[in-house]
Amino acid sequence: MDQKKKMGFSTQAIHAGYSSKEHYGSLTPPIFQTSTFVFNDVEEGRARFSGEQEGYIYTRLGSPTVKLLEDRIAVLEGAEAAVAFGSGMGAVSAVIFSLLKSGDHIIATDAIYGGTYSFFSMIKEKFDIDFTLIDMSNYEEIKKYIRPNTKMIYIETPTNPTMKLVDLEKVAKLSKELGTISVVDNTVMSPYLQRPIDLGIDIVLHSATKYIGGHGDVIAGLVVGRKETMKTIKMAALKNVGSVMSPFDAWLLLRGLKTLSVRLDRHSENAMRIAEYLEQHPKVEKIYYPGLASFPQYELAKKQMKAPGGLLSFEVKGGLQAGIDLLNNVKICKLAVSLGDIDTLIQHPASMTHSTVPIEERLKMGITDGLVRLSVGLEDANDIIADLEQAFSFVK
Ligand SMILES: *Cc1c(COP(=O)(O)O)cnc(C)c1O
Repeated sequence: MDQKKKMGFSTQAIHAGYSSKEHYGSLTPPIFQTSTFVFNDVEEGRARFSGEQEGYIYTRLGSPTVKLLEDRIAVLEGAEAAVAFGSGMGAVSAVIFSLLKSGDHIIATDAIYGGTYSFFSMIKEKFDIDFTLIDMSNYEEIKKYIRPNTKMIYIETPTNPTMKLVDLEKVAKLSKELGTISVVDNTVMSPYLQRPIDLGIDIVLHSATKYIGGHGDVIAGLVVGRKETMKTIKMAALKNVGSVMSPFDAWLLLRGLKTLSVRLDRHSENAMRIAEYLEQHPKVEKIYYPGLASFPQYELAKKQMKAPGGLLSFEVKGGLQAGIDLLNNVKICKLAVSLGDIDTLIQHPASMTHSTVPIEERLKMGITDGLVRLSVGLEDANDIIADLEQAFSFVK
């Protein structure tokens, strides 16, 4: 295992935690598609339940295929342990429900994922866990909003879809000083491009539906952090709430992880080509992509991200109608939400992913009616550009 530590990211993404020798020589990990596990005798059952003996009991509480995925993502994020969930929102809600209580307060980045915003609104109303959304790209702003009951700093960087960055090292340090829990939703980057734990962040979570799965065929979530915290989350959220990942989904994600680094290198390369094309386009008002030298936080991007990634947003000149005309005419780019897939996906945040956010709030986040989000896929960049070009011809 010590030797594994010295190995590179791609090697660990392919091998960490699995031994074919222990599985009949099977190169690919088996799928343990079982709901329950048989005990040898009553004593063994008792010891498993009490925690005196390691081992599996029932798939809601853990299974070997899911455990392998958890161990592997923990290695890739540089964390002690991980917990897998049936969806990204399962992961988000688990972290909040397990670690906070009524009366607590969360500080979060503005323009957070629409589902997370909707969840925060629900727990505020029903469970009295308050939240404040702030522009954390301005580090000095953060301190102003800290209250005595602030328990968590919840970060998305880059913020989807406006791509604002948060300086993770600075915020992790501040969080330690304040004694709050720092959480990063690392979905848009993946552990290959950004490792928040290395920078002092406490908890990292993912919608594994996106880059980790990568192929648009699974809904899943992951959380990583310290062993004790992961145990708390597992007991509170998996055992009692039950947003469990299925063994088959874990197997798909293990397969996805094997190509994560090569996919993200190409996603980033393609996105850069498309960002350069959009930046000079006469019908584009504004472009948000951390790889462009014109990006306001270009230096921070270079500091904390290995590459700029595959996600970008742009504002079409002419507002809502212009955006609609563009989106209704693309052919290769698919009009769909989600991101991080092999297929290029295009969507309209104002009417889709961020439609639950009140309009004033949405505009404050920078999500205008003409904003279009593009998750650049692995097709040939020239073909994606040609597709956008023909669709732009329909924009007046
Ligand atoms: C998709 C997404 C989620 C929610 O994940 P699901 O797998 O759809 O439940 C959370 N955060 C971000 C940044 C996302 O993109």
